[in-house]
Amino acid sequence: MADRLEILRTLVDMSRRLGDPLAANVILGEGNTSARIDAETFFVKASGTQLPTIGPDGFCEVRTEPLLALLDGPDLDDTQVKDALQAACVDPEGLRPSVETILHASLLSLPDVRFVGHTHPEAVNAILCARDVTEALTGRLFPDEIVVCGPASVYVPYVDPGLPLARVVRDKVAEYISAWGMNPRVILMQNHGLIAIGASARDVENITAMASKAARILLGTHALGGPNFLSPSSLARISARPDEKYRQAMLSGR
Ligand SMILES: [Zn+2]
Repeated sequence: MADRLEILRTLVDMSRRLGDPLAANVILGEGNTSARIDAETFFVKASGTQLPTIGPDGFCEVRTEPLLALLDGPDLDDTQVKDALQAACVDPEGLRPSVETILHASLLSLPDVRFVGHTHPEAVNAILCARDVTEALTGRLFPDEIVVCGPASVYVPYVDPGLPLARVVRDKVAEYISAWGMNPRVILMQNHGLIAIGASARDVENITAMASKAARILLGTHALGGPNFLSPSSLARISARPDEKYRQAMLSGR
């Protein structure tokens, strides 16, 4: 297992690549990233830091357990959430963790999830901020989208960021796992953005890049009559093909 310094280094590299201006995933302080250290703690981006230029000191180490407890606890006001986040920090005097830290705790506690990247890619948000958003997300368009992004995405209607959003994401992910028998790779939040979750940093980068490409293709189809989604049988076939499973493992760098 990678040691904590190596995990932090990998997280910094992943965050900077997700923040590359050419990828148009984020500007300014948008987006946040995290990586599991072990069963007890994880690294998460500090509030106000910027992905393109972030360094090791731009992350907070936080304890998972007290954050997961918030998901099942009572509703909290903004000050109580801020205090609970600070109390979960290994260094309570350090930087303040991202407001989405509870959501990261929930996703990093799923089996096989080690890295999480949340961004606001322009093409993805062009869809997530549209009136016809649910119709736009009813299928997959091409085989590589299925290989990298999975057979479907989790869709989360708009919820107030922070604890309410973390609770809805947890519930929608649980529904996805019982429907598909696997972790989701892509979570799409209405009027907000994308979350990519994976076993490796490379997974998260690949998923973000492919979800962004698929969004551009989907928008492009509307110039020529709208999307021709793959049939359920083609989708099931690609998801199950052994050569595609092999390609999936090679792409994730595992
Ligand atoms: Zn966001």
